[in-house]
Amino acid sequence: MLQWQDIETVLLDMDGTLLDLHFDNQFWIHHLPKRYAELNQLPPAQVQQQMAAKYQAMQGQLDWYCFDFWERELNLELMPLKQELAHLIKIRPSVIDFLTALKQSHCKVILLTNSHRKGLQMKFALTDIEQYFDQVISSHDYGYCKEQQAFWQAAETALEFKPEQSLFIDDSLAVLQAAQTYGIAHLIAVNQPDSQQPVRQINQFNALTHFDELTRDLKNSLAHANS
Ligand SMILES: [Mg+2]
Repeated sequence: MLQWQDIETVLLDMDGTLLDLHFDNQFWIHHLPKRYAELNQLPPAQVQQQMAAKYQAMQGQLDWYCFDFWERELNLELMPLKQELAHLIKIRPSVIDFLTALKQSHCKVILLTNSHRKGLQMKFALTDIEQYFDQVISSHDYGYCKEQQAFWQAAETALEFKPEQSLFIDDSLAVLQAAQTYGIAHLIAVNQPDSQQPVRQINQFNALTHFDELTRDLKNSLAHANS
């Protein structure tokens, strides 16, 4: 159980943590290869295979998250294709309750995402979650992704949070690992980032499926502090 009075800053990931990763998985694994194959009259199965290999090779690099990179690489515009799947962009269960409780708490709440600013804009417009954050940071602002120590260095310098009094929630184990190496004291993994995939067994971090329990603890701690 988390001691909320020890937490000053809450750092939150977006895709797979606050929003359903189903949209992103569908888009990158299925929709983009399919539409690229159509636009270039190529065999869909072959394109899907080639793109999967490319993704694999680029994992943990900022370019993998960079819309400009993919638009150059594939010679197409991503945003119109993303709009075709916009109906899949959804807030995960119990997230709004959690964000509401956080807003009423003593904690500073910062969104830390590897999402490109164009993707952020689209998701904010459709979900209205921007209002819950004191600050919003895209790793593209710093030129390093969250998997890299240089990101955390840049984030701490810019945001002046104390790693030992910070809670970070993310669905990526590689990113949580990087945050742990950097010294973020409190870490929680989301074990079902994609609503259409099974819950993952996670051993190296505390993990949650939904935010209910965390919200209940936070509300209790707030009530306690006010009494
Ligand atoms: Mg994520």
